Amino acid sequence: MIAMANELRDLTREIDLSRHVSGTGPLRSQRPLYVDFKPPCNHACPAGENIQAWLSLAQSGEYHAAFEKLIEENPLPAVHGRVCYHPCEESCNRSALDSPVSIHAVERFLGDMAIREGWLVPPSTHRTGKRVMVVGAGPSGLSAAWHLSRMGHDVQVFEAGPVAGGMMHFGIPAYRLPREVLIAEVSRIQAAGVHFHYNHKIENLALEKAKGMFDAVFIAVGAHLSKKVHIPARDAGKVMDAVRFLHDAETGPPPQLGRRVAVYGGGNTAMDAARTALRMGADEAMIIYRRDREHMPAHDFEADEALAEGVKIHWLRSIKSLDTGEVLVEKMALEDGKPVPTGEFETLEADTVILALGQETDTAFLHAIPGIQFKRTAL
Ligand SMILES: Cc1cc2nc3c(=O)[nH]c(=O)nc-3n(C[C@H](O)[C@H](O)[C@H](O)COP(=O)(O)OP(=O)(O)OC[C@H]3O[C@@H](n4cnc5c(N)ncnc54)[C@H](O)[C@@H]3O)c2cc1C
Ligand code: SF4
Repeated sequence: MIAMANELRDLTREIDLSRHVSGTGPLRSQRPLYVDFKPPCNHACPAGENIQAWLSLAQSGEYHAAFEKLIEENPLPAVHGRVCYHPCEESCNRSALDSPVSIHAVERFLGDMAIREGWLVPPSTHRTGKRVMVVGAGPSGLSAAWHLSRMGHDVQVFEAGPVAGGMMHFGIPAYRLPREVLIAEVSRIQAAGVHFHYNHKIENLALEKAKGMFDAVFIAVGAHLSKKVHIPARDAGKVMDAVRFLHDAETGPPPQLGRRVAVYGGGNTAMDAARTALRMGADEAMIIYRRDREHMPAHDFEADEALAEGVKIHWLRSIKSLDTGEVLVEKMALEDGKPVPTGEFETLEADTVILALGQETDTAFLHAIPGIQFKRTAL
């Protein structure tokens, strides 16, 4: 007994786990709490998609299930997989590690597969007995119609134009969004029970609502009025607005452009107009913009693509007047991000000037309705 008590011990004494409450062990009183927060990509997605849910299904090869999960929020995956600016990827946590998950490309893959495989969604069997009128068949009207129809309402879409898509059809050029993709996704919305009335512009909303016995109206008329700026011009015939130009380039007859085309503005519409002008055979397409690249409203990659195709961009220039074959521009400087004139002028050569200065909403048809208030908000 005495010999054992004097023995040297070389091991730390074992912890009595039955009494250990502040660390690991069987009697822990603190446990991790699992909270189901949305990841940053979901928050950033304007369509509100449950991205990680459909990505995980796609990752395990369950493509149809992934598609069904995706269209719970967004009925236009093949369209968005092409032209959405994918803010989801900008907010992806993974970019701090290496690069963001390619959400946009997987969305396009699923959208294209759905078109190829002819995946359709049958009309909802649940009927609410309510009728909803949707004014406008752009992406906003189409999405609203899709969701309302899936809820079991009778949805009727009224579209002023001859086809659905709005600016997706008459603004975004076909080289970025092939029309068969758009048509296929609209057909799926139709097959899910949404009714379309084309060439039907709503002028008197109250009357049409009463006539159709609608319970609710969703207004999705977009922004189609081009903003104007007064530029003294000797040859006004060669000035056109970008939305009209892109519309006519899509539907024909093609607008008559000169050899050199100048586009005034720095947004995505300006980039599309300049690239379209080159595709229509102009020898030269240039963009004239009041601020610098850092302050342009277009996305960086849009300017890169335009430059790669041969579009020239004149930053910090404001158009002062137009003459036959010439554009007089004033050089600008930036003060707190705002362009200020420098008093220095130069002349650029251009046969046609396309104004791409933004668009506004035409709300005239709503003004006669009592109870609707209008508020102008700065974007
Ligand atoms: C050149 C260009 C390029 C663009 N590129 C991109 C891009 O790459 N990615 C991106 O995310 N966004 C892009 N956009 C923006 C995008 O197209 C719009 O944000 C989007 O189309 C707006 O959708 P909307 O449904 O609100 O309106 P719209 O698409 O404008 O649709 C409105 C619809 O309502 C109809 N309508 C209007 N008034 C009436 C009425 N009284 N009665 C019946 N129908 C009516 C119109 O005919 C139209 O079809 C681009 C826009 C332009 C102009
Ligand atoms: S690419 Fe798709 S998932 Fe990403 S923001 Fe756009 S619509 Fe949402």
